[in-house]
Amino acid sequence: MINMQVPVNAPVVTPAAKKYVADAMETGWVSSAGPYIGKFEKAFADYIGVRHAVSVTSGTAALHTALLGLGIGRGDEVIVPDFTMIASVFAVIYTGATPVFVDAEADTYNMDVSLIEKKITKKTRAIMPVHIYGHSVDMDPLLAIAKQHDLKIIEDAAEAHGALYKSAKCGSIGDVGCFSFYGNKIITTGEGGMIVTNDDRIAQKARALKDLAHLPDRRFWHEEIGYNYRMTNLQAACGLGQLESIEEFLAHKRWMTAEYRKRLEKIKGLRLPITKDYAKNVYWMYSVLVTDDFPLSRDGLRAALKNQGVDTRDFFHSSARQPVIQKLYGVKERFPVSEHIAEHGLYLPSGLALTQEQLDYVCDAILSASRS
Ligand SMILES: *Cc1c(COP(=O)(O)O)cnc(C)c1O
Repeated sequence: MINMQVPVNAPVVTPAAKKYVADAMETGWVSSAGPYIGKFEKAFADYIGVRHAVSVTSGTAALHTALLGLGIGRGDEVIVPDFTMIASVFAVIYTGATPVFVDAEADTYNMDVSLIEKKITKKTRAIMPVHIYGHSVDMDPLLAIAKQHDLKIIEDAAEAHGALYKSAKCGSIGDVGCFSFYGNKIITTGEGGMIVTNDDRIAQKARALKDLAHLPDRRFWHEEIGYNYRMTNLQAACGLGQLESIEEFLAHKRWMTAEYRKRLEKIKGLRLPITKDYAKNVYWMYSVLVTDDFPLSRDGLRAALKNQGVDTRDFFHSSARQPVIQKLYGVKERFPVSEHIAEHGLYLPSGLALTQEQLDYVCDAILSASRS
């Protein structure tokens, strides 16, 4: 077997993205004014099926701004999954609110909705479902809990562009939804993010907050603290071009998933990703759980693949076990499912530029590790 280098992710920059970015450059609209910002926001809102989309500098900034737009701050509690990318948790902390963790489901890796209710206190203001690796959280029971306890819902859809819960796009279901356009996400602007909502007031608030909170009718006059979270016209140009190809990107993820499944399902000791009836999974990353029936540990498999030039990534860590969270809150509770998957999971090369040859090579490398 010839040795290949397979990156865990390589993005695709479409011809349309290149064309629009060149146009933005040539016209001199390089900063946060210019026609592509409005165009990208409009196209993204239409794609998700919401009234408003507000562009920002990152998914983290989107979450922060969305939480502030809901009026969440000091003294409040926000329920978040223990198993998530840490930005979900940090965004809550930026506002002065306290994150309250719930454990994961063993099959989807999403927050276990049945564990939410016992976490609700007088201080709880919101729930943040995170659609992990492109699989929707079970939203109907979560919406029912939110309604009953008068809580807001902020969807972290940073990994779920185009994913569905039943017939609704992820990000369009809660009070507000947040997306990331980091280089490994389904749509990229290099760095970037978007807040989506049907609520006029949240959208208006988010627009003010991302631009230093100038009063609308009195520039350079401020009644509250704002941020500079403005996306540039260059980034928006890239995003608009990318968005035109989203159906192809999602088809690529489906192809990748079918191929990996076909090649890996017979290997004993690997748990492959699943899709619940209520979800249309976009398989942002092809996640694999290495169980005790596999001859190597997760770390052993990662090392064996690395040795063959195949780059993988471990799953996220349990948020509550992170040193910074321990230092701030000293969380005593353990989250057994989250901790288990964090130790046993990795994801395989899943980028939009992944070729058949690379995928075959990755599967051969896993097969040979499974015989070690
Ligand atoms: C990527 C990601 C974010 C953060 O987005 P950035 O654009 O990198 O700031 C937040 N939440 C989840 C679940 C993510 O995967």
